[in-house]
Amino acid sequence: MLDLTSDRSTRRRFLSRFALFCATSSQLGRSLFASSTWLVKSVDTLPKPTTAVRDRAPLIPGKFSFLPLGSIRPTGWLLNQLQIQADGLGGHLDETWPDVGPDSGWLGGKGESWERGPYFLDGLIPLAYLLHDARLKARAQKYIDWTLNHQEPSGMIGPASNDDWWPRIVILKALTQYQEYTGDGRVIPVMDRYLRYQLAELPQRPLRDWSKFRWQDELLSVIWLYNRTGSAYLLELANLLRKQGYDWMAQFTNFQYTERITAEYIKLEKGEGLKDLALATHGVNNGQAIKTGPVWAQVSNAGADRAAASRMISELNKYHGLPNGMFSCDEHLAGRDPSQGSELCTVVEYMFSLEQSLAIVGDPALGDRLEQLAFNALPGTFTDDMWAHQYNQEPNQVECSLHHKPWTTDGPESNLYGLAPNFGCCTANFHQGWPKFANSLFMLSGAQDTTAQDGLVAAAYAPCEVRTVLRGTPVHVVEETDYPFNGSIRFTVSPAVPITFPLQLRIPAWATGTTILINGEAAPAPFPSSFARIERRWKAGDHVEIKFPMVPRISRWFNNSIAIERGPLVFSYGIGENWVKLRDRGQTADWQVFPTTPWNYALIVDEASPSKAIAVYDTGMAGNPFARKSTPIRLSVKARRIDKWRAEDGAANPLPQSPVVSDAPEENITLINYGAAKLRITAFPHCRS
Ligand SMILES: [Zn+2]
Repeated sequence: MLDLTSDRSTRRRFLSRFALFCATSSQLGRSLFASSTWLVKSVDTLPKPTTAVRDRAPLIPGKFSFLPLGSIRPTGWLLNQLQIQADGLGGHLDETWPDVGPDSGWLGGKGESWERGPYFLDGLIPLAYLLHDARLKARAQKYIDWTLNHQEPSGMIGPASNDDWWPRIVILKALTQYQEYTGDGRVIPVMDRYLRYQLAELPQRPLRDWSKFRWQDELLSVIWLYNRTGSAYLLELANLLRKQGYDWMAQFTNFQYTERITAEYIKLEKGEGLKDLALATHGVNNGQAIKTGPVWAQVSNAGADRAAASRMISELNKYHGLPNGMFSCDEHLAGRDPSQGSELCTVVEYMFSLEQSLAIVGDPALGDRLEQLAFNALPGTFTDDMWAHQYNQEPNQVECSLHHKPWTTDGPESNLYGLAPNFGCCTANFHQGWPKFANSLFMLSGAQDTTAQDGLVAAAYAPCEVRTVLRGTPVHVVEETDYPFNGSIRFTVSPAVPITFPLQLRIPAWATGTTILINGEAAPAPFPSSFARIERRWKAGDHVEIKFPMVPRISRWFNNSIAIERGPLVFSYGIGENWVKLRDRGQTADWQVFPTTPWNYALIVDEASPSKAIAVYDTGMAGNPFARKSTPIRLSVKARRIDKWRAEDGAANPLPQSPVVSDAPEENITLINYGAAKLRITAFPHCRS
């Protein structure tokens, strides 16, 4: 293990000097950005920069690597969003939902003892530490202490009432995060004993069902521990997990599941819901699977493995892709009709897979998709206050009710907003979405590229600050922006002493015409779908301004329908909403939402120059940008209604094939960002004129 305290006096001096720089540099450029009022925080509470743990041979280092947890601090709207999560279900779930309450098996009780406690912790821990929230840290600590203090002599961890490997895969993810934030000396020995036990047990008690299909998530923790201990048995365990785990790379080399899955196809009625066919077409499993190739490539060093994430995404998008960035999965792969749903667990697991894959592969397209999910599908499936969520969200969501829906295998409650609609996995698992996104905004450039070693990478964009150590020097970077609602981002880079390192900025595929200024002077124009690299001798207060063109554009979907995008945001027609409480659920409630306005519009947009027909109104950031009442960007577009396009059983019928014609009068309709429209049309028929 790295010893970070070997020279305490030197380190104290260096940290106090660093704190001074943090205070100075955070004053810079504040007046330019309204949201930066959220930035102010006493330097006394700032985390200390720590050094990253690099991949240990013979593992193949990723292109980038994650900064040690605690290095990134969200600010602006992102900090506000995390606070909304903490003030909502995220910070109160254990008070109102017995499955993670005092009787949880993960607290030694007789209650739920499978995945829900670990799921909750996997997001609660980063949320608590990102917010420096003592109340939330104390809540998480109870489960952590019980887990660490009740290891069996064999090495087994977790509730004795089940011996399933799967929930232990999740608790390992929670423990690794907790260890990085706290340095708690109990974590590594407990993990070490458990993984030695598992290696000995697996030959006679192999991975099965969920753990067989989600082995790649355990591999992350095995690699994490190997990088800290170097124990050779961990490589043996990695190989055994691969051998016993499902072969996701083979599934996507020759992808067979190109149609909407049905209950009959997977023989659900015959009790085969946990057989391979059902689990291979299960949405959450596919979302988790996307990381498999890149993570395994750290062991295999095979180019095909490294490329597998992009291939999986491409296949899922081709046959099941939706305009909110997701693939359909309600709860199995469901085709491209935008009335099909996507499960919230899949949204957050897909995001986590993209974060891990982006770090290893360094493909900017993975960052584009990560932002698309984070800024659209994630907020779109919660109420504004994050006290209620859906199980399934639909891009064309015209009603959330108990009406029969077109789901492949899910129940009628699936798109209600509530405590635990359909099934409680998402209730326990959603917590990881925003916090892990915040921890992935900046990465370190890795050992694969020696010229970029110890540089910083802006992998995804949102307001934040970073404190880290590059080439032995403390560095503070402030990112001020209202992105994705505004295309301007300002970075203020402040090393403790002037040093040279590369700063790489992800340029999204849609960002043709991006400009970069360094201390006010124009830098060469960057290419879309690349990382713009700025290598220079940085001194305190240097600033980089990047301007992404936020021009509305069109994408094509099911039945040649169109969606309107601007930057990473997808825009929807916000149908009038009537929220009807179905029942109280402890501190929260379950809601149905019924439409109060027509929604069957076709858009009149010139595909060659969509911005001509779309007027953009920017009212600036004023509150939660994912809430309908305070969303800052509105698009006005011409449309005509299509009478024959109706809803049945609370779901929009398949869109008519575009282009369409309509005799209905021309109207101007307003589009808002997808996340703010809880009833919405996102894929529209394209009207000829
Ligand atoms: Zn779920």
